[in-house]
Amino acid sequence: MARDSLRDGHGRLIEDLRLSVTDRCNLRCAYCMPAEGLPWLAREEVLSFEELARVVALLAQMGVVDVRLTGGEPLVRRDLPVLVAMLRRIGELRELSLTTNGLLLERDAPALVAAGVDRFNVSLDSVDRERYAELTRRDALPRVMCGLRRLAEVGCPGPIKVNAVALRGYTEREVLPLAEFARQGRFEVRFIEFMPLDADRAWQRERVLTGAEVRAAIDAVHPLVEEPREPSATARTFRFADGRGRIGFVNPVSEPFCGDCNRIRLTADGHLRTCLFSLNETDLRTPLRAGADDDELEQIVRAAVWRKELKHRVDEPGFIQPERTMSAIGG
Ligand code: SF4
Repeated sequence: MARDSLRDGHGRLIEDLRLSVTDRCNLRCAYCMPAEGLPWLAREEVLSFEELARVVALLAQMGVVDVRLTGGEPLVRRDLPVLVAMLRRIGELRELSLTTNGLLLERDAPALVAAGVDRFNVSLDSVDRERYAELTRRDALPRVMCGLRRLAEVGCPGPIKVNAVALRGYTEREVLPLAEFARQGRFEVRFIEFMPLDADRAWQRERVLTGAEVRAAIDAVHPLVEEPREPSATARTFRFADGRGRIGFVNPVSEPFCGDCNRIRLTADGHLRTCLFSLNETDLRTPLRAGADDDELEQIVRAAVWRKELKHRVDEPGFIQPERTMSAIGG
């Protein structure tokens, strides 16, 4: 059943849902969480596959047709391909993508692609084993590389993107090795500016290595040509002038892209976030479990989205970091 499309109070059409299926993760990236991890949600707090699929189906009827599965680390959620298959049966769904740290990708890539994942984003902040372990606190680079190779073998309809968080004082030495990795042509590397969503609350503006700086370092060695920006895209994408691959830059801090934002998020415990940096959330789990019908849920969603923030205020005086951290939002 089609419903009216979903718009926010600024007239922006909402078409993209970032769906966190767990807050748990099998890595301990220093820019995200402490070495000891975080207190995880209790199982009963996390939405079941049926609840997740019901909310996605309702949102898809309102035109939210692109869904990205995130975490924590989504592949630590047992039987994830079952959820993928359930979502794939939602007729209105256009694209189903997944963001993963790749540790379990070699095991799960065939089943995920068979179940219906169109494209993948794999987090990879370094291609050097020691430096990867230094940042993620896990000696897991070989597993990620095996996962990427397995995914490339299996093949998926869309691009395989590799996301590297750009941190001043760390990433400068990774820029050219990651650019070379992109030039191999099978994976599109994207550098993402460090955002104030870390559990240690240690983010500082000075620690942001900007997209412009990373791009300049690459362009000096391998000239880049910018490609037209897709509407609502988060990345500025470039191809290497010599035709060997593509590379992207997601610059939420230095070049915010909020003007045509079409995204909302649902946390693993059923809270709707209208912006990555929202200070408020709307609880959908309680009405969902209290027997609300789809029309009632629709009204709750519309009211929340109508109040969607115009933009983030990261670089503004008085910016307040959200209570919920990146690992519990899912990017
Ligand atoms: S910061 Fe918020 S408004 Fe800006 S692009 Fe991200 S989700 Fe959209």
